[in-house]
Amino acid sequence: MFKRPENAVNFLKDAGIKPSVQRLRIYEFLSKSIEHPTVETIFNALSPEIPTLSKTTVYNTLKLFQEHGIIMVVNIEDNETRYDADTSFHGHFKCTKCGRVYDFPLSLEHTNTIGGLENYTITESHYYLKGICSNCK
Ligand SMILES: [Zn+2]
Ligand SMILES: [Zn+2]
Repeated sequence: MFKRPENAVNFLKDAGIKPSVQRLRIYEFLSKSIEHPTVETIFNALSPEIPTLSKTTVYNTLKLFQEHGIIMVVNIEDNETRYDADTSFHGHFKCTKCGRVYDFPLSLEHTNTIGGLENYTITESHYYLKGICSNCK
């Protein structure tokens, strides 16, 4: 399970990222969120307290985090990019009714059982499932 870094300033520094206030708040928001927010969601949540924040800044900051490997992108829908501070191996389930994206645990051994790719090297894996969540049933 994902463990949020206790000290986000040091965490960003260790990742080679200069911890400006905006970057810090964006990372903290993302690491506390369980809903895999979009740029829009993050912008709407943080702009009241950071009036100078723009959507472009949010987007560029997330891109920087992604390049440094501290967050990952969840592209469960073509038209909607979501972000996740949990970079450990796990799957995503999207409820088609409420639109929530849930995490579910996956073990790496699980991928070793996939047949037909014996001499291939897998560099990225994404597990996306869709359906109706237990809250909406
Ligand atoms: Zn639902
Ligand atoms: Zn996730």
